[in-house]
Amino acid sequence: MNTAKAINPTNDHFHFEMTEIQNATRVNLIGIIDEDTDFSTLLKLKNSPVIFNFKEVTSINSCGIRTWVNFIKELTGSTLEFTECPPLIVRQMNMVPSFIGNATVNSVFVPYVCDGCDHEQNLLVSVTDYKKGGPIAETIQCENCKSEEMEMDGNAKQYFAFAK
Ligand SMILES: [Zn+2]
Repeated sequence: MNTAKAINPTNDHFHFEMTEIQNATRVNLIGIIDEDTDFSTLLKLKNSPVIFNFKEVTSINSCGIRTWVNFIKELTGSTLEFTECPPLIVRQMNMVPSFIGNATVNSVFVPYVCDGCDHEQNLLVSVTDYKKGGPIAETIQCENCKSEEMEMDGNAKQYFAFAK
């Protein structure tokens, strides 16, 4: 397995890391996706399987969404998977279906908020399990105050609307 990693800065607030894994290229997207983001160097991944990891995306604006949608439209012939999508990306997937295009969404972070101390925490959930009817935990334990009363912030059905 080739684990060589290429780190590509596109500007001072966004870069990506590419890792060759078995039968696919994993691309970690890191930082802010906006009008300055340039995905064009990733178009060399056309016609090959790509796994996009969104875990470290901290913000995306409307220009960034447009740039992303155009980019994955151009990334023809590739089998695309999205993994570890934070709530800010899930919101876009629900509002802008073309954000996903033909990709398969593997996993998303579900936001929880603590009743006792207002601490916020994300729980990684497999979309495949959810589609199979796997329940989303209604409450989890707060890592800050140890209360057992952290509740999902929002409605699971609405949150997973993209997964139809
Ligand atoms: Zn708490």
